[in-house]
Amino acid sequence: MRKKIVAGNWKMNKNAEETEDLLNELIDKLPNDIEAQIIVAPTFVNLASASDHLEFTNIVVAAQNMHQAESGAYTGEISADMLQSIGVNTVILGHSERRAYFNETDSQLAYKVDTALKHNMTVIFCFGEELKDRQDNQHFNLVETQLRDGLFHISNESWENIILAYEPVWAIGTGETASPEQAQEMHEFIRETIRKRFGSDIAEDVSILYGGSVKPDNAKEIFGKPDVDGGLIGGAALKADDFVGIVNGLR
Ligand code: 13P
Repeated sequence: MRKKIVAGNWKMNKNAEETEDLLNELIDKLPNDIEAQIIVAPTFVNLASASDHLEFTNIVVAAQNMHQAESGAYTGEISADMLQSIGVNTVILGHSERRAYFNETDSQLAYKVDTALKHNMTVIFCFGEELKDRQDNQHFNLVETQLRDGLFHISNESWENIILAYEPVWAIGTGETASPEQAQEMHEFIRETIRKRFGSDIAEDVSILYGGSVKPDNAKEIFGKPDVDGGLIGGAALKADDFVGIVNGLR
């Protein structure tokens, strides 16, 4: 069954105290009459405390990244086992900021996906075109390539642990959102691409989130599209009222 999901990617924001404050506010304010999976991804140093804090809630804690190796001489990096040892079983992989600023490639991401799946973790796999790709009318090709290179090698069974997040780079943090029609057009294409490679059951069951300047006042319209199953939220996930407003957009 396809799930509705709203995930907050906090990026490099919120120190320890601010993390605790925001989590407390979310626990207080998130509606409990909406059938949706709520995910928050604080920064690495606050993951353990967030995981403890949310242990008896329905809110899932995710990491924003992880390394593909099991362990070893990778200064500054974090492994799947480390995440799982603090109760974190969900990880965002392939965010456009990781691709752009930290040179993560499709092949490296395929390796990270494998490691996460081997650990039975859930992966929020991000992808999306840059503005110039869209201007050149290459956005469908680009997205297809990112899906193929990052995910086409995984087994059918693994799809239980995959959430897709389409984030057009030109809409991230810019205040410019894809129109609900643009989002739907791409999400439909993504589902079709998955259908061609993995079949209808998997294509119908996978949740495809939209990310890029989702706000309380545009969430409902975007989430209302048939192939949009929720959102991956950046800036607006940093204020409880905004995040809750976006979650309410699922109604
Ligand atoms: P904004 O919601 O700030 O545009 O960020 C989207 C994003 O990158 C979520 O991962």
